[in-house]
Amino acid sequence: MSGTGMSALLRIAFRPTVKRKTRHTLAARALRLAALRIALVCACAGGVSYFINHSALEQSVRSQLSLSTEQALQRESLPFREVKDLEKNFLAEFDRIYAIPEARQSLARNFDDIFYRHEDGSYTQRPGLFEGEPLPDGRRFPGMSATYAPDVTPDADVKTRFALSYLLSYQFGSAAKGRLFNFYGVVPEKGFPIYQAADIAKVFKYEGPDALKLETFEFFSRGFGGPQNETFFTRIYWDPSNNAWMTTIATADAPDASGKHRIMACVDVLLDDLMKRTANPTLPGARATIFAADNQGTLIFDGKYTDAITASAGEASISSLEIADYQPLLKASQAIGAGSVSLIESTSEITAVGRIPDTPWVLAVHYPKSLMRPAILTNLGIVVAVGLLTLFVELFILRSILQKQVAEPLVRLIHATQLVGRSGVTVANDALPTHSDDEIGELARDFASMAARVHTAHEALEGKIRDRTSELERLNQKLLTISQTDEMTGVANRRRFDEVLASELAGLGQGQDLLMLAMVDADWFKGYNDRYGHPAGDACLKEIARVLERNTRSKQDVVARYGGEEFAIIARIASASNAPVIGQALCSAMATVKLAHEGSPFGHVTLSVGIALAAPDQNISPEALLLEADRALYRAKQAGRNQAVVAEPSADMQIQQIGA
Ligand code: GH3
Ligand code: MG
Ligand code: MG
Repeated sequence: MSGTGMSALLRIAFRPTVKRKTRHTLAARALRLAALRIALVCACAGGVSYFINHSALEQSVRSQLSLSTEQALQRESLPFREVKDLEKNFLAEFDRIYAIPEARQSLARNFDDIFYRHEDGSYTQRPGLFEGEPLPDGRRFPGMSATYAPDVTPDADVKTRFALSYLLSYQFGSAAKGRLFNFYGVVPEKGFPIYQAADIAKVFKYEGPDALKLETFEFFSRGFGGPQNETFFTRIYWDPSNNAWMTTIATADAPDASGKHRIMACVDVLLDDLMKRTANPTLPGARATIFAADNQGTLIFDGKYTDAITASAGEASISSLEIADYQPLLKASQAIGAGSVSLIESTSEITAVGRIPDTPWVLAVHYPKSLMRPAILTNLGIVVAVGLLTLFVELFILRSILQKQVAEPLVRLIHATQLVGRSGVTVANDALPTHSDDEIGELARDFASMAARVHTAHEALEGKIRDRTSELERLNQKLLTISQTDEMTGVANRRRFDEVLASELAGLGQGQDLLMLAMVDADWFKGYNDRYGHPAGDACLKEIARVLERNTRSKQDVVARYGGEEFAIIARIASASNAPVIGQALCSAMATVKLAHEGSPFGHVTLSVGIALAAPDQNISPEALLLEADRALYRAKQAGRNQAVVAEPSADMQIQQIGA
C-alpha cells in the first residue's frame, strides 16, 4: 500500500462523527495510539515471522540438501564400486588359475598361438583373434589388442601371466561391455593386453615399440611403484577421441616377498555422464563441484572453473587457483567419512560436502541462500497483509466504540458544563448521557446532581444579593438625603441648594418657564437671639423653615437653608408677574404665625424676601442670579423689612417694591 493511500485510510478512520465545532482529540489520540501499537505488533510479528520462516525454510533446505547430496554420493559411487569389484574379481580369478601348475604350463604353451613376435623383440596379438562385429565399410577390428614391449625378453612365467591376463581381460571386459570403457590387466614387464569398449581404430593404433612407454603412464608407475595393492584413481585426463575427461582406476595384486607385483587390473572410465549430472544437481538452483580429497583439492569438475581445469590438463586445484570460498570445503572434506554429508554455511550459500564412496573424490553441492528469499518474502508479505487487515478492523471497531461510548457522551457533558458555567442556566437531564451504565454515565449523573445543587445555591445567593442590594440602596438613599439636608431645620442644605440651582439653570433650555430664586432673611434676628436665647432662636429658625415649606407650591420647588437665619427658595414659575405674589405670600404667611418678637417693630417675627428671575434664553450664571437676589433682599431690608422685592431682569435693575 502506498504512503498516501495509507494516510487517506487513517484520515477516514480518525474522522470524528460528532460534527461540532470543537477540537475533540480524545478518540483521535486513542486511535492513533492504537494504530501505533498495532503497527508495532505488526512489525514485530513480521520480524518474528521472517525469522521463523527463514529458519524453517533454511532447515528444510538443509535437510533437502543433505538428503539429495547423500543420494548423489551413493548413486555416483555405484559404477566405481562395480569397477573395484570387477578388478578384485579379476585378480582373484588370476590368482586361482595361476595357482594351478597344469594351467600355467598350458598357458605358457599357448603364448605363441596368441602373440606374434616382432623383430625388435616386442609382441602384439596375432590377427583375427577376438574380432568384433564388421564395420559398415567391411573392416573388422578385434575387441582385444595386446602389446609387449621389448625391454625384457619374456620367460615362461611372463608368458604365462601375459597369456592369462589377455584371456581374463577379454572375459571381464566383454562382461561389462556397455557399462565401462577399457578393461586391461597389465603385466609389470610391460605386457599390455586391453579390452576396448570403443572403436579400436579410433582409440588405439599401435605405432611400433617406442609408443609403448607404459612407465610414462600414471597408473603404471603408481600401481607397480610400491607395495600397496589398494584401488587407486589416476588424475583426470582429456580423451580427445571421446571428447571427454577420463580417469583410470587400477588395482595391483599383492606383491610377493621380494616386493614384486605380477599383475594389475585397470579400467578407464569416461567421466562425461558424471560431470553432466554434477553440473545439474537434483535440487533446483543448486550447482556442484567435485574435487579430489588430496591436500590441494585437485578439481575434477566445477562449472565455474572448467576453463582453468582444461588449461591445466586436469591439474588445477582449489589451492592452485586460490579459491578462498572452497577452502572450508577442502578442510571439511579431509575430516569426513565416505558417504556422509556435512553442511558448511557461508554468508551467500549453504554447501553440502561428502566423499563419494569407493572414490578419492569429494562432491560439494552449493545452494545459494538467495533462492530462499522469494519464499520468505512471500510469507512475510502474507503476515504483514494479515496484520494490516487486523489493524484496520481493530481501528474501525475501536473508533466506533470510542465515538459512541466516549466521545459523544463527553461532548454532551462538555456542553452541559458550558451551560452550567453560564449563570443560572439549568441543565435538562436528557441533555446529559445519564442513561449510559458505564463510568461516563456515572460521571454524568453525578454531574447532573452537582449541577442541580449548584443551581439551588446560585438561586439562594442571588436572593441574598438582591436583599443586600436593596438594603444598600436604601442606606445610600438615606446617606444621600442626610448629605443634602440641613440637620437643624430639615430643609435642603447649602450643598443641595448649589447643585439644584446649577442644574435648574442648565435645564432651563428653550422652555417657557422662568426660574425664580428667592432669598429669605429673618428680620432683626440678632435681637431675637439676644432677647430669647439661642435655643429659642434655633426653634424660630425651624418654624420659619416649616412656614416656607408649607408655602411652596410644588414638590419640585426646593427650600434650602442658605446660611444662618437666611433661606433660599428655587422654583419654576410660568410668568414674571407671579414672583411678587409669591414673595408677598411668604412674608404674609410668616406674619400670620405671629411668633412673638418684642425686639421687632412689628412685635412678631417677620421675613424679608429678595427675588431674582432667570429667563430660559438668558444664560445667567448661578453667582449672578444670587447677586441679583441678594441685592433685591437688600432693597427689601432698606425699604423697612417684612416685604418682598423682585429684581427686574433689565439692565437698569428697576426695583419693584411691593407694599408690606
Ligand atoms: P436685619 O434685620 O438687618 O437682618 O438684622 P439682624 O439682626 O437679623 O441681622 P444681623 O446680621 O445683624 O444678625 C443675624 C443674627 O442671626 C446674628 C446671629 O446671632 C443670628 N443667628 C445666625 N445663625 C443662627 C442660628 O443658627 N441660631 C440662632 N439662634 N441665631 C442665629
Ligand atoms: Mg441676615
Ligand atoms: Mg436678619
